Amino acid sequence: MPRIKKILKIASVTVLVTSALGGPTLWWRYPKRPFDSVFTRRAAFTFADIPKGRALTHDELDGYAGRLMAEMTLEEKVLQMSGDSYLSFALPWLIGTPIAPWPSGTDRSIGVPPLRAADGPRGVGVGRPTTCFPVAMARAAAWDRDLERRIGDAIGKEMRAQNANLWLGPCINVARHPLWGRSQESYGEDPYLLGEMAIPAIQGVQRHNVMACVKHYALYSIEETRHTVDVKADERTLREVYLPHFQRAVDAGVATVMSSYNQVNGDYAAESRHLLREILKGEWGFRGIVISDWFYGVVDGPKAANAGLDIEMPEVAVFGRRLMAAIERGQVKRELIDEAVLRILRLRIDYATRPDAMTYGPALSHAPAHVALAREAAEKGMVLLKNDGVLPLARRAIRSLAVLGALADADLLGDHGSSVVRPPSHVTPLAGLRAALAGAARVVYEPGSDIAKARLAAQAADAVVVIAGFNYLDEGEYNPYTGVSRQDWGGDRKFLGLKPADRSLIQAAAAANSKTVVVLFGGAAITVEEWHEKVGAILMAFYPGERGGEALARVLLGDVNPSGKLPFTVPKDASQLPAFDDRSPTVTYGYYHGYTLVEKNGWVPRYPFGHGLSYTAYTYANLSLDSKTMKADGAVKVSVDVTNAGARPGEEIVQLYAGFPASKLDRPVKLLRGFDKVALAPGETKRLSFTLRARDLAYYDPHQQAWLVERVPHRVYVGPSSRPADLLEATVTVVD
Ligand code: BGC
Repeated sequence: MPRIKKILKIASVTVLVTSALGGPTLWWRYPKRPFDSVFTRRAAFTFADIPKGRALTHDELDGYAGRLMAEMTLEEKVLQMSGDSYLSFALPWLIGTPIAPWPSGTDRSIGVPPLRAADGPRGVGVGRPTTCFPVAMARAAAWDRDLERRIGDAIGKEMRAQNANLWLGPCINVARHPLWGRSQESYGEDPYLLGEMAIPAIQGVQRHNVMACVKHYALYSIEETRHTVDVKADERTLREVYLPHFQRAVDAGVATVMSSYNQVNGDYAAESRHLLREILKGEWGFRGIVISDWFYGVVDGPKAANAGLDIEMPEVAVFGRRLMAAIERGQVKRELIDEAVLRILRLRIDYATRPDAMTYGPALSHAPAHVALAREAAEKGMVLLKNDGVLPLARRAIRSLAVLGALADADLLGDHGSSVVRPPSHVTPLAGLRAALAGAARVVYEPGSDIAKARLAAQAADAVVVIAGFNYLDEGEYNPYTGVSRQDWGGDRKFLGLKPADRSLIQAAAAANSKTVVVLFGGAAITVEEWHEKVGAILMAFYPGERGGEALARVLLGDVNPSGKLPFTVPKDASQLPAFDDRSPTVTYGYYHGYTLVEKNGWVPRYPFGHGLSYTAYTYANLSLDSKTMKADGAVKVSVDVTNAGARPGEEIVQLYAGFPASKLDRPVKLLRGFDKVALAPGETKRLSFTLRARDLAYYDPHQQAWLVERVPHRVYVGPSSRPADLLEATVTVVD
């Protein structure tokens, strides 16, 4: 690690110096006739000659991109394969915040609008005021495709308002272990859920002619060694666990894919022919572009170009002059450069010529409707893990509330790495509760540094809310500068459960007041074994965005009936998790993690995947299939009655799993294969239907290099979570 830090520090100083000098930068980037293409030559056919305002067909796009390429020198083509962001990249990292979208592909002679990238995934990260949504993990806990589409739509509008056209999201890496610092940016542990949440986000953003970018391809889920670690996984694990959601994103039309920093089976992801050329561009037929990750994510330029990387980001590092030399040596074929540039140009032409759905003025950034959506998402993403009846806190019964914990008044927006979004203000849990109870109850706040004072406050109050967990200092993206000049990037989390101070505070509060509620903040599972039996209720709030404190108050006080469900398993302890090693240069990802690991071993986790309570109660009945058999290319319709048997209206997330009891292979006990969200009034019953296709039951056979479906009976489970006792079951047999 120290070596990497040193390299990066030297690199960034070099970047700044060369940028300041200008000359060397130009020499590096325009190796042969430096000023020729940039300042003097005007191409005979340019972007101005391409019709605008209607969606061009594939053939037209290929044709126009080809005509532009005919105008370009090899140097100009190679230049298209690197970002242009010396200044806009180096400065932000040194001053601590992005300042504008990162450009790439600027070329004055052909005039196609450049890519202008800005980060996600919890909003638009350009350093200016934009809406900060809950982190992706919180949104995954809402299991709400429509909500995610609306968030994507809002992000697309804010991107346009910020003059950006490439959104660096969604992040769809498998959150395979809760200690991964960037778990919060992902949609959880399950490949199916990851795909289902990514698709509406992509569609929402791209509707506004902003390209989305699924990242990071692939097997990235460790921070501290992310730039070097070699992640090994066998082909079946890769295909069934780590890649399916990327393929779904490609099928849904995602414009770009970002390669990860890590190595995959011995090749850096940006240089993996298997991942890029064979699987992504070959088997899946991806028409868009692959961009590298930002902090020198490519080591061997010619190898990356051969493997199928289209653009190195954010600036010339290993392409440029070196790629030219490799082409001249015959190490990289010119056709491959043409293929990359064709992809780049046709994508940029496509997004720059499509008709816009609306006009995008600056007022769209941090628009009131988006802020309201951020609150709605926060409310829908909170997961009630446990409730002995303490919640909701009845306004009329609470005259005083003790709020404990230093985090109650802290920045709980999430990581301060690349996913940082800067809203003009945010509502902390304390501020939210104070505002909601103003005039109704006294709110007493104790940060908890003095346990005796906290205990007294808890004793004197009608109820206690302990705010516990983590923030950006504890978990987030790893920055090689950590420990050098910047201290506020979390990296991998060090604690599976709460820190000792939080645990002491909870014990003290629970001993003093039976109406103690613990609210957990964090990007992934937090173990609760030491204290969960002592408290009345536990609510998982994740990092709930700029209106999180307000949403929290509405959930705790019963203005909102919680409906979120866990997008991951909460284990009892580390023994129920796969190994996590963020020091080793090589790690192996096995086939099982999360609920598949727990179920395979017959372990009972603390809270199963898909778990989440409500202030009402739901019952499930009458599971039926429209057929007892289905053909290998067929489907079966699965129906179930869901009833709100309680006294409050609510929304229930109904889950469908498929099981493989008769399989001849080693397969999971079951896999999530469908879900739906249904609103029910008290006493109301609705019948829901799902389509389960035989191909959803397939496994990947590495020898035949094909997805196969076994002609055997399969189990179908429907219920409120993955917990076996909660599920109704039926059988369907796949036949020829
Ligand atoms: C992160 C990416 C991010 C990029 C640009 C990288 O370090 O891994 O997720 O999009 O920086 O900020």
